[in-house]
Amino acid sequence: MLDLNRRQFFISSAATAFGFRLAAATSTARGLRVAKTNQVHSVCPYCAVGCGVVIHTSGEQVKNARPFVVHIEGDPDNPINRGTLCSKGISLKEFVVNDRRLTKPLHRAAGASEWKEISWDEAIALAVKKIKETRDRDFVEKDAQGRIVNRLDTIGMIGGCTDTNEINYLLGKFRFGLGILPYENQARL
Ligand code: SF4
Repeated sequence: MLDLNRRQFFISSAATAFGFRLAAATSTARGLRVAKTNQVHSVCPYCAVGCGVVIHTSGEQVKNARPFVVHIEGDPDNPINRGTLCSKGISLKEFVVNDRRLTKPLHRAAGASEWKEISWDEAIALAVKKIKETRDRDFVEKDAQGRIVNRLDTIGMIGGCTDTNEINYLLGKFRFGLGILPYENQARL
C-alpha cells in the first residue's frame, strides 16, 4: 500500500483527475480539428534537422471554396523526429496561414526605391534574361595560367533543407552546366 499523507493524497487525486480529463479533452479537440481533412506529408523548412510534418488541409472537395490549412503536426512515421516538433516547428501553421506571407514575386528595379509586384511569368523571364546576360559577360574559359576552367563566378546559388536528393541532383546538373561554382545550403549539403 502507498504511504501517503492527507496532503499528498489530495494532490495526487487532483492531478490524476484533472490529468485524465485534460488528456481526454485534448484528444477529442484534436480529433474534431482534423476530422475529414486531407493529409500531406512534408518537411519543416526552419532548420537543417528536417523534421517530417503532416499538413491537414480542408476545402479541396468543396465547390467555390479555397483549400486551407487546418492543422500541422509532427509526422509520427518520420524516422527523424517520430512525431515530435520543437517550439519553432510547432508554430508552422502560423507561418503558412499568415497575412504577411509573400505569395507573389516582388521586383525592385535598379535605382528604384519601391518593390513592385510582378507575375511568375515575368519573374521567370527576368531571371532567365539576367542569367544569360551575366553568363555571356563573365564566363571564364581559361584562367590566368591558360588552364581550362569553364566557370562562372558571378552567379551563386542557394538551397534549403527541404530540397530532396533529387532536387539537389538536378540543381547540381543545372549549375555545373552553367559553370556556377558558388553554392550555399542551409543544410550544408
Ligand atoms: S521542428 Fe524544429 S528541429 Fe525540427 S526542422 Fe523544424 S525547426 Fe528544426
